[in-house]
Amino acid sequence: MNYTDSYRHKGLRKKLVELVKSKGINDDRILQAILKIPRHYFLDAAFADWAYRDVAFPIDADQTISQPYTVAFQTELLDVKPKDKILEIGTGSGYQATVLIELGAKVYTIERQKKLFEKTSKFLAEIGYNSIRTFFGDGYLGLPRYAPFDKIIITAGANNIPKELLKQLKIGGIMVIPYGNGDVKDMIKLIKIDAKNIRREKHGKFRFVPFKTGVENK
Ligand code: SAH
Repeated sequence: MNYTDSYRHKGLRKKLVELVKSKGINDDRILQAILKIPRHYFLDAAFADWAYRDVAFPIDADQTISQPYTVAFQTELLDVKPKDKILEIGTGSGYQATVLIELGAKVYTIERQKKLFEKTSKFLAEIGYNSIRTFFGDGYLGLPRYAPFDKIIITAGANNIPKELLKQLKIGGIMVIPYGNGDVKDMIKLIKIDAKNIRREKHGKFRFVPFKTGVENK
């Protein structure tokens, strides 16, 4: 596929950054990442103009690319440091993963839908993000082979907090997870104080596609 990033796209991105900033995102590194990444590449060409509105948008396989503000907000909660080893659950379009890699993190990301995993892995390599490590599997199980992680980010709405993921988090590590029983989730930040103590903070309410168990092979 032929990807082009025009002055118009760059202008739209600048406006998006201003909007995200006005909603309370102050970390300049995150704003710079949003300014740099051509988000329109992540949507089908016919919908390119939607890429720079601050909305979630349907991608393949009945999934969504998260709203830019939500991506920025979760990233800010994660307090990303260069070289952090980060596990993302829910690769989806790959956009969140590119924001994390732009912050200098080492990124491991898992997707449970085979078709989406294949499409996004290929796409990320095509646009030059070959250093993002993509995996097909059930995010509930994490990636024990690569654990422990400094940070874990869940980009689907959970109704329980996976114990396996907490185990794979370093002491002092941070996990950000949209969590709750209803459709609207609380944005929860967990800080692993030591093997037994987890500090929990609540940061507002967000809507997400469901965090499902098992994989889809179709
Ligand atoms: N981070 C994505 C947002 C994708 S939407 C982006 O930036 O575009 C959430 C994604 O989580 C969907 O693709 C969905 O298939 C995936 N998902 C849901 N449950 C999962 C699980 N148990 N393991 C891995 N991925 C999961």
